[in-house]
Amino acid sequence: MQNTAMVWFRSDLRVADNPALYHAAKSGLPVIGIFAPCIKQWQKHDWGANKINYVLRQVAALNEQLAKLNIPLLKLDATDFVSIPGAMIKLVKKHHAKAVYFNDELEVNEEQRDEKVQVQLEVLDVDVHRSHGQTVIPPHLIKTLADVYYKVYTPYRKAWESELDKGDYLQVLPKPRKQKPLDIASANWQALIQKHPTSQKVIDLWPAGEEVAHKQLKAYCNGGLLAYNDQRDFPSIEGTSRLSAAMACGVVSAKQCYAKGLAAISEATPGQQSQIRVWLSELIWREFYRHVLIGFPRVCRNHPFKTVTRNIPWSDNEQHFRGWCDGRTGFPIVDAAMRQLNETGWMHNRLRMITAMFLTKDLLIDWRWGERYFMNQLVDGDFASNNGGWQWAASTGTDAVPYFRIFNPTSQSQRFDPQGQFIRAYLPQLADIEGKAIHDPPPLIRGSCDYPMPMIDHAKARQRTLAIFKNL
Ligand SMILES: Cc1cc2nc3c(=O)[nH]c(=O)nc-3n(C[C@H](O)[C@H](O)[C@H](O)COP(=O)(O)OP(=O)(O)OC[C@H]3O[C@@H](n4cnc5c(N)ncnc54)[C@H](O)[C@@H]3O)c2cc1C
Repeated sequence: MQNTAMVWFRSDLRVADNPALYHAAKSGLPVIGIFAPCIKQWQKHDWGANKINYVLRQVAALNEQLAKLNIPLLKLDATDFVSIPGAMIKLVKKHHAKAVYFNDELEVNEEQRDEKVQVQLEVLDVDVHRSHGQTVIPPHLIKTLADVYYKVYTPYRKAWESELDKGDYLQVLPKPRKQKPLDIASANWQALIQKHPTSQKVIDLWPAGEEVAHKQLKAYCNGGLLAYNDQRDFPSIEGTSRLSAAMACGVVSAKQCYAKGLAAISEATPGQQSQIRVWLSELIWREFYRHVLIGFPRVCRNHPFKTVTRNIPWSDNEQHFRGWCDGRTGFPIVDAAMRQLNETGWMHNRLRMITAMFLTKDLLIDWRWGERYFMNQLVDGDFASNNGGWQWAASTGTDAVPYFRIFNPTSQSQRFDPQGQFIRAYLPQLADIEGKAIHDPPPLIRGSCDYPMPMIDHAKARQRTLAIFKNL
């Protein structure tokens, strides 16, 4: 039996620009891929059916790509992180692996898991090669002059951009060459997908595959990207890339996205260039939240970034929370947004801000309840961005919205869905309401449409929240 090199795929489900796969192939050893469908662990991390099904479909698509390179993709039999080292050792011994390659994951549990695996493999004299593939620039490389992690986005972005100029960070790695066939069969990934279904609507909306994601990226760079800043805040327009799900499980890398955006700048008019730069800065927000995660790991442990906000007397009103989850708050923009989330597994960024702000500032419900609910529904659920987004809205996070800037959901609705097209699409019972009334229908109309009255008085709720934050 010949020696092999194993590539452990995790949130990097791609063959191109995958450092671990690239280096394993360069080793000259026959390469075997492995993936651990840690369903129990994922559920513990609040992943819901949408994300689990999506990731498994992406794994099956990866398996097809790897098959073209004669690389089998085996199942690491572990349903949680604790059982990974044991399962890994079995597989390593069975396939005579001399080396295991993987790209780092940054969250605390994942990091601890990898440390344990590394120790055990090294005891067996198996080389462990760790690479970086989640962000354009490894998050620990950006530090302040005082050598500490940044807490504020704008100086972070400036430091990030100047670091980008210094290094070769945008060099995208090619996919490896086809190797000689191995007599090892891949796992039956399709069977696993069947065991973890989700709605057909979500499956249709979020197709799997690296080629699919790249087509989408290319089309976006030739189209919507050129008007990104003008359109990105309007949920009735498809003005954003909708690449978040593919990015969250690494089907397309941040580097590939950033490099494509930058290339688009060189062919764009000055007006379009500024639109594209805003998109690039959103990709840097993604990097920033990962930077915060490793610099301040308390955010991984369910703690707010701003420790003083632990003293907020959050409401435990379950009825309010359920009303928010189900889209029955009586605020049309909030309800339409929650229905978008519940029906499609995705929500527009402007609406994520509005609904998160509404839950935490109007209903005064703990941001962690919302964070968990989002994670459970989202197809693009991503710990760093979700936690960052929630702590931003709750004013508990680093560089969060100031506590006194509380969104008025009705004004947000008038501003970002002026014709009410988005509301009508997700709340068909309001479809016939004409004009501005769609944003806050009068009681009689609500009654006739079977649409609830607002569950709270926004002005009063705002005053209550301001007083609480002021006295922290
Ligand atoms: C409360 C809240 C929760 C969120 N939860 C998640 C989450 O679980 N997963 C997730 O990927 N994003 C999350 N975001 C960030 C943002 O809403 C989504 O990334 C974005 O809506 C995805 O749509 P898009 O791919 O069309 O983005 P585009 O506007 O096309 O942006 C391109 C990419 O940049 C990244 N990005 C964009 N905006 C942000 C941002 N504000 N923070 C971090 N990265 C960003 C994403 O990877 C996105 O795919 C959250 C934001 C908030 C306010």
